[in-house]
Amino acid sequence: MRDVVLLGATGSVGSNTLAVIREHPDEFRVAGLVAGRGGKRLAALALEFPAAALALSREADADAFAALLAGSGRSGRFYPGPDGALDLLAGTRADICVAAIGGTAGLEPTFAAAAAGTRLLLANKEALVSAGRLFLAAAAAGGTEVLPIDSEHCAIWQCLEGRGPAEAARLILTASGGPFRDWPAAALAEAGPEDAIRHPVWSMGPKISVDSATLANKALEVIEAHHLFNLPFDAIKVLVHPQAAVHGLVEFIDGTLIACLGVSDMRQPISRMLFTPRRRGNGLPRLDLAALGRLDFAEPDGGCFPLLAAGIAAGRRGDRAAAFFNAANEAAVELFLARLLSFPGIAQTTLAAMRESGEGYFSRLEEVRETHARARRLVRELAASAPRPSARPEP
Ligand code: MG
Repeated sequence: MRDVVLLGATGSVGSNTLAVIREHPDEFRVAGLVAGRGGKRLAALALEFPAAALALSREADADAFAALLAGSGRSGRFYPGPDGALDLLAGTRADICVAAIGGTAGLEPTFAAAAAGTRLLLANKEALVSAGRLFLAAAAAGGTEVLPIDSEHCAIWQCLEGRGPAEAARLILTASGGPFRDWPAAALAEAGPEDAIRHPVWSMGPKISVDSATLANKALEVIEAHHLFNLPFDAIKVLVHPQAAVHGLVEFIDGTLIACLGVSDMRQPISRMLFTPRRRGNGLPRLDLAALGRLDFAEPDGGCFPLLAAGIAAGRRGDRAAAFFNAANEAAVELFLARLLSFPGIAQTTLAAMRESGEGYFSRLEEVRETHARARRLVRELAASAPRPSARPEP
């Protein structure tokens, strides 16, 4: 029996992890649940797993949430407030921690989990993108095994089977191309949040869906792959693959390509990593290649989606530039979701902000936070003087 702590219990990755765990009560026990806000979903989980410790970072929700659970007979501890996640990690025994708090908000708890010496299933991108060297050093010092559950990295991890840069010549990450793959460039100016979060293949949270639409997500994944698999940026390639059946490929030094295929369902990579080194059967749908008929691959369109190249360029310049890119893009996406920035405005504002990004690497987590804050502030200033998106009639 392995104890699992979930950072980001109510998000998309958290919900999928719990779906896998529910199928195997003989293998896993939910030891801790961490969430940002105390909504109905967390309340339902709190009652379903009464022995699990709970952390809730939004202070405003804490009292109402505690009242909601009073008299429920829960035995798990409750850790309210901004440090709740860190307190829960310090006070809860775990064998596996799933780091799935998205965005820069997940940075600190993900670092704390890296220091804990448990197996870490990593979904949060920011720890590797913004502070790759610091994060891997923290994990190495803590004796923590980092296993990626992002579908592309999990695929490459499976293709590599432990082989490193001596044998792997090139990694290929696939991108579905997002909802705007076939949109004419002129129409992108009118694209609203409701268009961008309608992802053709994956069902995910709004931030990562918008990042998939701009291809910024793929830039972040290239940076992650660089750190996780210790290969230079020149050896990591992105291909658009609309069927999203091939999640990743490795080209070995003898020219052999090994690909990892499967249905587009997060439960697949999560299950693979939860059970590692074993595999366990599951009730997931199977990929039907004959029904699919064909697999298409194409070079990404750098003209319509400039954040892909810009993000990779930031990664090449080191963690400081990557962190700046990451936070600038995050702030721009938030403004787009609030309809304060147009879709092309996400890239324009992020690229304009990159003029003030730094070079080199961080030596302390505090510096990462400062860089994030600086990038976010600059994007908000730039966006305030950018043209607002045109309102369009409701469909
Ligand atoms: Mg991915």
